[in-house]
Formats: sequence, C-alpha cells, structure tokens
Amino acid sequence: MKKRVAILGATGSIGRQTIDVIRQFPELFEVVALTTNSNVEQLWKYACEFNPRYLGVSEKAYAQARDLLCSSDYALLSGKDYLSTIATLPEVDVVVVAVVGFAGLEPTIKALKAGKIVALATKEALVVAGPIITSLARKGQLIPIDSEHSAAMQCLVGERQEDVSLLYLPASGGPFRGYTYEQLKNVTVEQALKHPKWNMGPKITIDSATLMNKGLELIEAVHLFNLKPEQVKVVIHPQALVHAMVLFKDGSLKAHISQPDMRIPIALALAYHQRLPLNIPAPTLQELSSISFEEPDEETFKALRLARNAVKEGGDRPCVLNASNEVAVESFLNGQIPFTAIPEIVEETLNKIPFTAQPDLETLQEIDAQARQTAKQLISKMQMT
Ligand code: NDP
Ligand code: MG
Repeated sequence: MKKRVAILGATGSIGRQTIDVIRQFPELFEVVALTTNSNVEQLWKYACEFNPRYLGVSEKAYAQARDLLCSSDYALLSGKDYLSTIATLPEVDVVVVAVVGFAGLEPTIKALKAGKIVALATKEALVVAGPIITSLARKGQLIPIDSEHSAAMQCLVGERQEDVSLLYLPASGGPFRGYTYEQLKNVTVEQALKHPKWNMGPKITIDSATLMNKGLELIEAVHLFNLKPEQVKVVIHPQALVHAMVLFKDGSLKAHISQPDMRIPIALALAYHQRLPLNIPAPTLQELSSISFEEPDEETFKALRLARNAVKEGGDRPCVLNASNEVAVESFLNGQIPFTAIPEIVEETLNKIPFTAQPDLETLQEIDAQARQTAKQLISKMQMT
C-alpha cells in the first residue's frame, strides 16, 4: 500500500526536496495534498505532475489560485484553517510539515490528534510548544526532518534513555564563522543569505547566520529526546558531514555521518523505518579525514545563549524567543535593522513580556501575538533613533 502524503509548504526548500524524493519512488508514495503560501504557479506545476486531490493556498493568494487552478479535479482550500484542514484529511497517512515558523504549530497538533504520522521540518512548532506536542505524539508518530534530529534519532535507536550522557549538536557556523562583533555589525542581507553548506529558505538561512537556528535546534532536541538542556552541546563543525553524535555513559560515541543533503532525512521520515536507495554518495575517507570541531563563540553570537536560557526557564520563554526572532529576521531581510540587532530585539522582547509558566495552545497564541507586537515596537523605536 502506498503512503498517502500531504505536504504543507510544498513550494519551499524542504517541500521541493520532499517532492524530489516522492518523484523517485512513485511505487511507495502518493501525493494527496499540497500547499503553498503564495507560489501558485509552482503549486500548479506540481498539481499537473502529481494530480493531488487537495490544494491549499493562503487567503492572499486565493484569487490567483482560483483562476489558475480552476478544475473539478482538485478541491482548493484556503482561509484561516486550511493547513489544519489538510493536516487532518481522512485520506492522508503522513503529513510533512514544512511551512516556516509559528504557522506550523496548529497543523502539527491537529495532525497528531488525528493520528497522522507527522514528518516535521518546522522546528519552530517544537520550540514553541514542545511539551504539548510531545505529550500528544505516540511512539513513532513524530519523525524529525531537521538533519541533526534525524541523525540523533538514528543514534538513539535501541538505546536506553538513562544511558545517554550527551548529545553533540553540530553547526556549520554559517557564513560569519570567526567574525568579530564589529565585523558582524556591517554584514549585508546578501552576505547573510549565502550559507556555505546548505541551500535553504531565507528565514532558516538567517537563523543559521546568527546561530539562532542552533539555539532553536537545542530546544527542539530537549523536547524530542527528553534531554536536559545541559545534555545538549553545540559544536561548530564547518564540514557539515557529522549531523549528530551521542555520548553514552560507557564512553561510547555514536555518530551519524552523511553528505549535507536534506533528501536523506526527508526520505527516512517518509519511509520510516525503511532506507531508500537515494543515489547520494557517502562522504569519502579523504573527506572524513578533514573533520574538525570548535567551540561556538557565544559572546559574539548571543542567540545561542538566549535560546539555552529560554529552554532552561521554560514556560512561555521559547515562544517569546521564537516570535521576536521571526519578526526580527523579517525586518533584517527587509533592510530595516542591522544583523546584530536581531538577538538584541529578541533579548529585549524577552525582558518585556512577563513570564507565564505552563501555557496551553490558546495562551501560546496570545503570547506569540503579544511578543510580535512588542518586537515590532522595539524595531520602530530603533529605526527612529
Ligand atoms: P521556505 O521558505 O523555503 O519554504 C516554506 C514553505 O512554506 C513554502 O512553501 C512557503 O510558501 C510556505 N509558507 C511560508 N510561510 C507560510 C505561512 N505563514 N503559512 C503557510 N505557508 C507558509 O522554507 P524552508 O523549506 O527552508 O523551511 C521550512 C521549515 O523547515 C522551517 O521551519 C525550517 O526551519 C525547517 N528546516 C528547513 C531546512 C532546509 O534545509 N531548508 C532544514 C531543517 C529544517 P511560498 O513558497 O509561497 O513562500
Ligand atoms: Mg538542522
């Protein structure tokens, strides 16, 4: 039986690579539903190729989609809840959540409640609501696509929780590895968008440059693998070949090593537990002999420290961190604030929003909105001075 797949965010970097994997294995997967925020033309091309029953677009793209996709072959969904509607369709087995940011939270929760397998790329969902999501997911229902977490999951197979000492979370270091704070002040959007190892969407590429991405991943790992924040150690690994290492209490280290190619964790999540013949060469022995690790510079890249503190404090802190970061990254991409202002906006927003200990989903939605508003006010003030 083919697995019936819905891809939320099909036109993005992860979405396109998911399509690429599915295209290679038509005997294993059937595309049932695809969504885009606004790239209706790309969605239309995929619709012609895969003939899914459902297509989803944001409200702002609905009129264009209605004209272009008008066909009785598809049901076109839009409006406030279209992502959640698609995530819970009875015809769907696996939901690939690959939208950016907070928008991925509700569909993830709804899909889990509806008993779907969730292949999760949208790390922000776990960052914001880790305890809610992990309490809903039964064993094997939530499979990470994020490469480090897919790698860690593979290292942890067959192991006992109490035998795990440490998870090493490698970061390539981004385009500004080795930069001083003074140098960082003047970097451009174009420079920040040039990641040395991965070709990803703009938001995560900026997060990688500030190291916030690794901070978000630290929080993601704490929730996914039930670890204490102190058990997750970020290391800079510029070659991006080692995707996770787990240290066990007998002194053994298990690592996952592959080329930096997202189709590997995507295929594993889609076909779990099967490994698909992807035709991606393993790193050569020569490449392996070049592997190196360094400590991250947390003084210069303070996003990492902010994220670690947020998960240690718990409650709504990761939600506030995430919301203010989403706003600050967007403002940097629009040329409104300098690169170094991103973690400053996050830190100030965290200082301004009072602490809430155990927020439910509704409270998180309110806190997310409040944090966004606060971050926007801080940005306006910054622009005026
Ligand atoms: P992209 O920006 O490339 O793509 C995002 C996709 O989601 C697009 O289809 C986009 O539509 C859609 N989308 C964006 N915002 C919304 C929204 N508010 N509501 C509905 N749909 C939306 O992002 P990536 O693929 O790079 O990243 C997706 C997620 O995966 C992120 O959370 C990221 O952190 C995570 N991830 C990505 C990795 C990568 O290699 N790219 C690696 C690990 C994790 P449109 O095309 O119209 O913009
Ligand atoms: Mg990652």
